[in-house]
Amino acid sequence: MVKVRFAPSPTGYLHIGGARTALINWLHAKKTGGKFVLRVEDTDEERSTPEMTQAILDGLSWLGITWDEGPHFQSHNKHIHQELSYKMLANGTAYRCFCSKDELERRKNALAKPEEWRYDGKCRGISKDESDRRALAGEFFVIRCRIPEGKIEWDDVVKGKISFDASQIEDLVLLRSDASPTYNLSVVADDYSMGITHIIRGEDHISNTPKQIAIYKALGIEPPLFGHLPLILGPDKKKLSKRHGTTSVIAYKDEGILPLAMFNFLASMGASLDENRCLTREEIVERFELQKLKKSPSVFDRERLNFLNGKLIGGMPLDEIRELAAPAFKKLYPFLPFPDDKAVDLMRSRARNVPELATTLYPFAADDFYYDEKTLTKLNVESVKKNFLGLIYKLSSIEDPSWNAAEIEKALRAYAEERGIHAKELIHPSRLFLTGKGESPSIFDLFEAMGKQASLKRLERGLNFLNAG
Ligand code: GLU
Repeated sequence: MVKVRFAPSPTGYLHIGGARTALINWLHAKKTGGKFVLRVEDTDEERSTPEMTQAILDGLSWLGITWDEGPHFQSHNKHIHQELSYKMLANGTAYRCFCSKDELERRKNALAKPEEWRYDGKCRGISKDESDRRALAGEFFVIRCRIPEGKIEWDDVVKGKISFDASQIEDLVLLRSDASPTYNLSVVADDYSMGITHIIRGEDHISNTPKQIAIYKALGIEPPLFGHLPLILGPDKKKLSKRHGTTSVIAYKDEGILPLAMFNFLASMGASLDENRCLTREEIVERFELQKLKKSPSVFDRERLNFLNGKLIGGMPLDEIRELAAPAFKKLYPFLPFPDDKAVDLMRSRARNVPELATTLYPFAADDFYYDEKTLTKLNVESVKKNFLGLIYKLSSIEDPSWNAAEIEKALRAYAEERGIHAKELIHPSRLFLTGKGESPSIFDLFEAMGKQASLKRLERGLNFLNAG
């Protein structure tokens, strides 16, 4: 059975890259009927905090990523990791290294190119007896993995064959002199004991993989499959970072992004979905194939996230969108009544997020809004002064039950013809007077959704405003 894991270090929030890794793993588990394990890698005691662990769990839950097992905490397994390093020491695949930090530093700095330093294997040849004797005498030591000569290769499920020469990899430390296990040892020990079959993670971990495979080999264990997801880039094609804006996933919640839109967005930065709408999680699972993960880096395209969010808002059941918009509206305008469904349904067609929807609903509830300056300067003021009183009369002659987009359009166009003007001369100012903006859904739908009385009142207000000015 497929068993995947997401293994965040709780040293920061759940960021875009981590969330994408979690999501791809989750999709693979769902697709194959496998299990998704959550493991919190909290061994860096100084930088890990319970608050960050909670923030990561909250981020995953917000996205709709559930786990079948865990959260396990890596720090709880310390003794298992330590035991493993001693097992390797006993079978000769690891050895004690007595070189002090200062000594290593000296040897490194003696090189022509110190930055190319790799542990030189000085303690590799110490006999078992001597090693035991020195340990018993109380000398400090670390335990290092003995990397065998030759090639370390794997068939990466994303990137294809990857090969390292053992000479590129130093005999890495497994256990530090204070007996704390290192990252690579802990990861291998946990992945093995948790029965992980596929390790799918960011490509920044590629350099760890040969080390981890060497540990598996030393233990005589078949390594799991590895897959490394390409980087996520900012719009400037540099690695995505805080410089590019918000990288914490859950912060997008406050920007009005809905979890399913973020889910689609993240999925499309790994899997080849190529969709111009928001799919359901089930549809994404159905289309997901591990073998078809994208090999080249994806660019974090905020416009696409907004677009997907807008698509979602435009397509979701009306009562769901009302439940989202009403609290946001109440927060912004606590003393105004929330507009009716007709208004919500109309305005959501253009809103890219919930706060935006809430603000565009304001003119349905109150008529004291400002007019957009730019649109105002473009108005043909004389034409409005000449024609709008007549337009108001014309529209007021529509009987209440006939107040609908088709009738309103007919009346407005007939009036334009009577006056010998283009309908645009009526439509553009009407839009500004009804919404305060230069852009909106169809003006006739807007008249209908706003209702006769409120529409005429806003036209009158606009006309008075221009007459006064
Ligand atoms: N804890 C590591 C990180 O947050 C991930 C380890 C792994 O996936 O193997 O980068």
